[in-house]
Amino acid sequence: MAEERILIVEDDDTIATNLIRALGNHGYAVARVSTAVDALKRFDDFDLVVLDLGLPDLDGLEVCRRIRAVDPLLPVVMLTARQAEIDIVMGLDAGAVDYVSKPFRLAELLARLRVQLRRTEPAAPSRIDVGDLSIDPGARRAWRAGEELDLRTKEFDLLMFLANEAGTAVTRERIMSEVWDEHWFGSTKTLDVHLASLRRKLGDAAGEPSVITTLRGVGYRLECG
Ligand code: CA
Repeated sequence: MAEERILIVEDDDTIATNLIRALGNHGYAVARVSTAVDALKRFDDFDLVVLDLGLPDLDGLEVCRRIRAVDPLLPVVMLTARQAEIDIVMGLDAGAVDYVSKPFRLAELLARLRVQLRRTEPAAPSRIDVGDLSIDPGARRAWRAGEELDLRTKEFDLLMFLANEAGTAVTRERIMSEVWDEHWFGSTKTLDVHLASLRRKLGDAAGEPSVITTLRGVGYRLECG
């Protein structure tokens, strides 16, 4: 896994030095800036920002709002000596995901950073429901009208790909590259075979399929039901 990149925005050299060393020791790629202007120039390249509230050129809350305006998902953890509750509320209003008061325990800060970095990974949907179809991607199980389908690996992949694009026409080329292999140069006959088998298992009539529609010369579309 690639190193997670953390930007420390802190004008206090002692705190910054300690943080750089500690986060570096824990396997993060760390960079530090000491002004709001530099933070706003560079935050784009990072997975998380640790942001001091009291900066020399601009308030940390304002920096947080500007980061938020550009990247709503980038976690910003505020670091501040201001402990009043109103400051915490303002920090969260500005879009900070967490708030750590100085002086802080390093272990606590690290724990909070870990939580935030995990949260930015897109969560796999627990369930995909399209019409009377239901798919559990984690368990790799699928049902139609409550009845479990006995699908082989590629049939399941194919069904999930089509279900994720339900209601949209997908080309044979896209299916081949995303379900099979992006370097696939072979015949697309294998797609026909798997699709026929999937349709059979779905109970989709060969002459008049109602779940997966064939779009001649284009590709396929999974109907929304
Ligand atoms: Ca400061």
